[in-house]
Amino acid sequence: MDINVACTHEHSLLSFSIMEVETCGLCGENISKSAYNCRSCDVWLHKSCASKLLNLPLEISHPLHQQPHHQLELTLLDGLVVFICDKCFYMCSESRYYSCSSSSCNFNLDLACALSVNDDPPHVQGWTKKRTLIQHYSHIHKLKFFKYTKLKKYEYACNWCEKPLSDVCYGCRKCDFYLHDSCKDKIPRTIYDHPFHPYNSHPLRLHHNSATKTYYCNACRADISSASGSSLGLAYWCQICDFRLDFNCAKFSPTLKHECHDHLLTYFPPYIQTTDRLESSPCKVCHNHLWRADSYRCVQCDVNFHLRCMSIPSSAKHRYHMHPLGFKGVFKEDDSGEYYCDACEEERDPKHPIYYCEECKFIAHIECLLNHE
Ligand SMILES: [Zn+2]
Ligand SMILES: [Zn+2]
Ligand SMILES: [Zn+2]
Ligand SMILES: [Zn+2]
Ligand SMILES: [Zn+2]
Ligand SMILES: [Zn+2]
Ligand SMILES: [Zn+2]
Ligand SMILES: [Zn+2]
Repeated sequence: MDINVACTHEHSLLSFSIMEVETCGLCGENISKSAYNCRSCDVWLHKSCASKLLNLPLEISHPLHQQPHHQLELTLLDGLVVFICDKCFYMCSESRYYSCSSSSCNFNLDLACALSVNDDPPHVQGWTKKRTLIQHYSHIHKLKFFKYTKLKKYEYACNWCEKPLSDVCYGCRKCDFYLHDSCKDKIPRTIYDHPFHPYNSHPLRLHHNSATKTYYCNACRADISSASGSSLGLAYWCQICDFRLDFNCAKFSPTLKHECHDHLLTYFPPYIQTTDRLESSPCKVCHNHLWRADSYRCVQCDVNFHLRCMSIPSSAKHRYHMHPLGFKGVFKEDDSGEYYCDACEEERDPKHPIYYCEECKFIAHIECLLNHE
């Protein structure tokens, strides 16, 4: 029988549980259970033959993972997968790596770390002080220590400061929850004076909602009971008045003084205007719902306005800038991850619209222009 000579395998191999008996492209024997398949060359391979072909052992035992019977298996994937290497502690994006066969371990090594002869445990490289797994009050699972350099395709952000990850971080890959090492101690467990909460003296305590009941965020009206939502079920809760703010809305505050309402208004970006918000009050001007639209809201009065319905001027003048500034919408001038308002010199959220002078690259908060009028 003509054995199809296997390609040298720069192509990716897919792992399959096969239904029919196939012939291995390397040894010519039958394959009956799981196998690797190269779609480009139409070649089937035993897992052991694929590992021979790639010159990578199918299984290894590694000094950093010495539980009895916990072999590390070669994993070959069709696409890239993101994992944290338990030797170098870098977040990696690879299609070939070694992973502990016991799934409860979640122990992974990139190829270089798995096969290198230098098997110094990580504390030799100065990581003694860092515990590699921590239980942090902001997350239900343990967070893993890792180092981060921007991965080719992906850019991950810190769930607290929302800036791109950098240097030393902690995270849960399962939930895509990450914190800068420098942010992990900044998250308040209790907030006393949040402007959205009518009774400032009551404590708002950080709390994981149980998934058995439905809860809504008092600020954005989103359902925050599910751990799969953007706040992962994490919210600040006042037990006395049963007032809840999801983790993300707790970072918002009212900023804009506008003639359409007596109180300061808070900007809510379109990405949180989910279907849940159909339940909240419609826009006070046009009476349509807020779904996926920029809006301003007075949380305490439950009054909403579409940004487009508020007669925000298309250009406005700031006393410290000679040219009129144009309304620009959401804008990032570079990839630095740090964005400032040139009028008040405070930081600005790049997900919020701004005013902009094209000629001088002068950027200002909406409220920094309109509150002064
Ligand atoms: Zn293991
Ligand atoms: Zn951060
Ligand atoms: Zn998690
Ligand atoms: Zn909310
Ligand atoms: Zn309260
Ligand atoms: Zn409207
Ligand atoms: Zn109000
Ligand atoms: Zn400003």
